[in-house]
Formats: sequence, C-alpha cells, structure tokens
Amino acid sequence: TKDDVKSYLLRNAFVLFTIVAVILGVILGFSLRSYKMSYREVKYFSFPGELLMRMLQMLVLPLIVSSLVTGIAALDSKASGKMGVRAVVYYMSTTIIAVLIGIIIVVIIHPGKGTKENMHREGKIVQVTAADAFLDLIRNMFPPNLVEACFKQFKTNYEKRMFKVGIPPNDTSTVASIISNVSEAMEALTRMKEEMVPVQGSVNGVNALGLVVFSISFGLVIGSMKEQGQALKDFFDSLNEAIMRLVALIMWYAPLGILFLIAGKIVEMEDMGVIGGQLAMYTVTVIIGLLIHAVIVLPLLYFLITRKNPWVFIGGLIQALVTALGTSSSSATLPVTFKCLEEINGVDKRVTRFVLPVGATINMDGTALYEALAAIFIAQVNNFDLNFGQIITISITATAASIGAAGIPQAGLVTMVIVLTSVGLPTDDITLIIAVDWFLDRLRTTTNVLGDSIGAGIVEHLSRHELKNRDVEMGNSVIEE
Ligand code: ASP
Repeated sequence: TKDDVKSYLLRNAFVLFTIVAVILGVILGFSLRSYKMSYREVKYFSFPGELLMRMLQMLVLPLIVSSLVTGIAALDSKASGKMGVRAVVYYMSTTIIAVLIGIIIVVIIHPGKGTKENMHREGKIVQVTAADAFLDLIRNMFPPNLVEACFKQFKTNYEKRMFKVGIPPNDTSTVASIISNVSEAMEALTRMKEEMVPVQGSVNGVNALGLVVFSISFGLVIGSMKEQGQALKDFFDSLNEAIMRLVALIMWYAPLGILFLIAGKIVEMEDMGVIGGQLAMYTVTVIIGLLIHAVIVLPLLYFLITRKNPWVFIGGLIQALVTALGTSSSSATLPVTFKCLEEINGVDKRVTRFVLPVGATINMDGTALYEALAAIFIAQVNNFDLNFGQIITISITATAASIGAAGIPQAGLVTMVIVLTSVGLPTDDITLIIAVDWFLDRLRTTTNVLGDSIGAGIVEHLSRHELKNRDVEMGNSVIEE
C-alpha cells in the first residue's frame, strides 16, 4: 500500500543519512586535525554529539524499567521462565565462544612479541581486588534504595579512577602564561571528573543492574496478579509507548549527532606516532577477533537456529550498529536497538522488551573477547608464560568482567583489572593499551549490540510456540508463519 511504500522510503532514507553521517564525520574529522584544536575547542566542536549522547541516555532508565516490566508481565510465568533460560543460555554460550576466539587469535598472532620497555604508557590505574569487584557486582543487583539507584553511583562501595590529567606548564613569568596555566588546570580538572569511572553494572553512573533485577521481579509479580495488576500493566505499557515515541523523535537528530561524535573524536585523538609495532599488531589482532565473532560466528548461529538470512536481519540493524560505533556505549544505543528490532526486523515486542535491557546490561561478547585477548597480550609483553590453568582462569574472569562491565565508554578497560589480578599480571600494564582503547572500544561496543540483537532474534524464534499459545489464550489475532 501507499503507506508501506512511504515507510519503506523513510526507513531507507534514515539508514542512508546515518551512513552518510559516518562518512562525513570521518572526512570532517581528518580535515580539521591539522588545525590542532585546544581541549575546549574540541568540546565546543563535539557539542552536537554530546547532546545526542545525553538525549539517548535520558531515555535509557525509563526505557529499561518500562520495557522489562511490560515485557515480562505480558507473558505467563512459565513462558517468561523458558524465555529467560533461553536468553541466558544464548548469552553465556556466545560470550564463551567470544572469549575462546579472543584467546586463540592472540595466541596464534602473538602480537606481544618483544618487551614492554619501549612501549608507550598512558594514564594511571588504581588497584582493586577481583573479590571486591565481584562482591560489588552482586551488591549492585540489590539496590537498597530504588530512587537513589537512579542517581550517579560514584561514591558507592569503591571508587576507581583512571586519570589522564595534563600537567600545566609552570612558566609563571607573564600574566598570559599564568592565565593559561589556570585554564589548563581547570580543563585538567574537568577531564579528571569525566574520567572517573562509575560502579559496575551501571549506565552512565546509574545502577542499571539493580533496576533490571527489580524490574524483572516487579514484572513477574504484576503478571501473576490478574485484574489487580492491570492498572500497573497499563501504566507501564503506556509509559513504554511514550518513551518509544520520544526515541522516534531523537532518531531525526541522530545522524547529525553521530557525525559530530565521530568527527570530534577524530579531531581529538592523539597522533598515532606513539603506537609502536606491538600495539599496532595488538589492534589488528583485536579487529580480526571481533570480525570473526561478528561476521562469521553470530550470523552463522542465527542462520543455523532460525534458517533465516542473517544478513537481512543485520541489515535492519544498521542504525543501531552505527550508533554503537558513534557513542561507544551499548546502553546509550539501547533505544535505537529497540527501534531497529521492533520496527524494521519485526521482532515480537514481548521478546525485545524482555531480552534487550538484560542483554545490554550483561551480555557483552565484544568486551569478553577483548578482555581475554588483552590479558594474554599483556602476559606476552611481560614474557610471562601462562599455563593451561591460568588460561582457564582468564576465560572465566573475562566472562565475569564482561558481565560486570557497564554499557558505557571504556568500561571494559576498568573491569580488566579483575582479569589481570586473577593470574597475577601487573594491572599497571593496562596503561600500555589505553592509547588505542577508545577506538577498539567502539568496535567491541558494536559487537556487543550485534550480539544482543541477534540474541533477540534467536530467542524469538525458539519461543514462537509459547508466544502463539499466549496469543490464543489472550484472544489476540494470530499471524501464521
Ligand atoms: N563500551 C562498551 C559497551 O558499552 C563496554 C566496554 O567498554 O567494553 O558496550
């Protein structure tokens, strides 16, 4: 019909805008690099991108809560139990596959040949033990105060910082240089604040994991309440609908935001001169590992289970994948992931609402692959021979670290402390890979979002009978396959 044609064109126009935005962002970024902007100028320049990030983040919390509550309340407890088990099995198995790919690739390519003495370091790491981090993760699942859980969590159980603070020059001979010292110090302070790393399982500093656990329990209870629960069900349903309409509005702005996010990062990035041979090899190794997982393993898995064309499915996700690339945050991308899956790929809302918020919080294939690979790389540059038991330890802690990592930029770098301490590697050596992390982070975030989305497609397929039975029960019109 005419409406179908219209929505088809609109959708493709959006995808086209998004791709054009990435290309323009790259071109603009590289052409402005020679202009050597100051930290403040870069901030001004990236402002449209920062706004996109904030708009998306603004919607994440109400989206997580309303979608989980309604998604789960819409199923009966048996169906949601089965769906939950399927999702968890999918998350665990793909994460383990990712970790294995990371390990195999880094052992084969061996990018850490040589010593670390000539490698460039950046920033500083504060020690945390693996046990602290693990307890923190569990603790955060049960926020004592739900309202407080929605605020920044910097000062909870432990605080970690990774500073990359510029040291002001100490020439104090002229007024101008004093002013510039002060302003540099101020900028360093702002940077310090920005680079403080929030707690585990948090979205933008907010305890998302706690809200996920609460919303699942709340949804289950409401679902079992029959008439008495109807008012709450309607409330969250309508909240969810309203939020998704806001997402639709933001999508109009997204291409512009993405353009500036990418251009801003390219303008600001350090000269690649500091990247020596080992780090370059390391970067290539990570890219190969992520590609194997994202382009071969996940699509193959999707095909084997659903017998549908994975590339059509992935094609529908382009906007979400590009948003992940631009924002380096799988939580900030969540609203867009919802849109793509529900509206373009037509995945059942009862599935997306249930599995996406959980996936974005705990399922991070790219991060898991990265953590294992990076830990072994650090062992290699230390000429530290890992035995089999240590490699197993790395796979387990890398999985845990990816579950604990928040869906925010560079969170994976922080949880890597857990992996390194578990086998006695020096955590300070994380500073060896910071120079390329901003870039690799974008790629692993994109892989994370792809993993969550393919998971939604697979869980929907596996749950089709329960969904249909539920439709019959509720008297919904059933669409035959
Ligand atoms: N930035 C990643 C994400 O949001 C997490 C990470 O640092 O690995 O998915």
